[in-house]
Amino acid sequence: MTAEPPTTIAETVAPKPGISGLTPDELAAWVEAQRQPSYRARQIADGIWKDGGSTDAAAFRTLPVALREALAGAVRLDTVADTEITLADRGMTEKALHRLDDGALIESVLMHYPAHGSSRERHTLCISSQAGCAVGCPFCATGELGFGRDLEVAEILDQVRHAARRLATDSRRLTNIVFMGMGEPLLNLDAVLAAVEALNDPRRFGLGARHITVSTSGVVPGIRRLTALGPQFTLAVSLHAARDALRDVLVPLNRRWPVADVVDAAREHARATGRRISYEVTMIGGVNDTELDAAAMADLLRDDHAHVNLIPMNPVAHTPWQASPMPVIEAFATTLRDAGIATTIRRNRGQEVGAACGQLAADRAGEPPAPAVARRRERLVVASAAALRGERSREPVPGGVGE
Ligand code: SAH
Ligand code: SF4
Repeated sequence: MTAEPPTTIAETVAPKPGISGLTPDELAAWVEAQRQPSYRARQIADGIWKDGGSTDAAAFRTLPVALREALAGAVRLDTVADTEITLADRGMTEKALHRLDDGALIESVLMHYPAHGSSRERHTLCISSQAGCAVGCPFCATGELGFGRDLEVAEILDQVRHAARRLATDSRRLTNIVFMGMGEPLLNLDAVLAAVEALNDPRRFGLGARHITVSTSGVVPGIRRLTALGPQFTLAVSLHAARDALRDVLVPLNRRWPVADVVDAAREHARATGRRISYEVTMIGGVNDTELDAAAMADLLRDDHAHVNLIPMNPVAHTPWQASPMPVIEAFATTLRDAGIATTIRRNRGQEVGAACGQLAADRAGEPPAPAVARRRERLVVASAAALRGERSREPVPGGVGE
């Protein structure tokens, strides 16, 4: 018997790139290095992107066997090792828990919306940009997990390929992609921009920029960088509170970039790109839904070219909080509308299920010890009470959110 050849050091320290992360130029250069005609690059791109492509080397059928084998040796055809699907909303929502090659768990959620009136059927995919998240918003299951690592470009794109492949079996296509899954996209901005470029590129996924939304918790340098680049996608900003004292608690990176700076950067983005900003507000009963908070938000955004989405908080483990009651959300919406701010209440699952990203992975991570959970709840009760009194947080900026 012959022994398996040893794994080379190069392979150990530098994993092979995921094929979907290669740019057309990189693919063309690789094909040329194999001394193959340039049209082979087009064939490979079809194998990657057509109907979500395939993970199976044999599916690159039009390629010569030697090239197919060289390809499988040079790249990973799929960066997702395993996917578990859970259906919700009578099959209209498909939550996917993906295991990556190193065991990291991430989530994507596919939401189907039937045609109604003049609007066509839609299939929206909510994807992750990081495994875990450093920002640590206390109402978010991903925030509780903490930061794992940034996703590679191919790991972001392979969530899309998986969903596209599932849809293609029924001759359906993705119509919208939202970066509202796990992670803070603007803290992994190079990879997110490269992924958006691939999604946009007619030679690759071919989805129009208007159908892509990236949500940020307020990374000001990232927003400014996007403004300089010009319109790439719709920007959504997770606002949650207009007062610093409260936002320090709900979005801990507010201690680094306060809300006025976030809104200034968002306003500048809207002005420079001509695209309306979407603000997201997760409504938490008795915490950020008070009249004082509605008035503060109305003052902050008065007459802005903005749109506010009010979303009842999804129940998550380990917080003392619940969603605001609907009449309270309606009163909050009225205050904003009276200030000339377009406001929508999201009653349906759409955003809510997207927002619930992180819950499946959190369940897998296991229940933390009871005393830790009790301390966390107690800390949040104290912090939100202090915020209601207008006291700023003395907690540090979370590690890993950048300079
Ligand atoms: N990190 C980015 C994008 C991912 S989170 C951001 O925070 O914007 C996507 C959206 O889900 C955010 O608006 C977030 O505040 C919201 N969200 C997280 N947990 C939620 C929950 N339990 N209920 C409702 N919305 C939630
Ligand atoms: Fe991170 Fe967004 Fe969750 Fe906050 S809401 S912890 S920024 S994923």
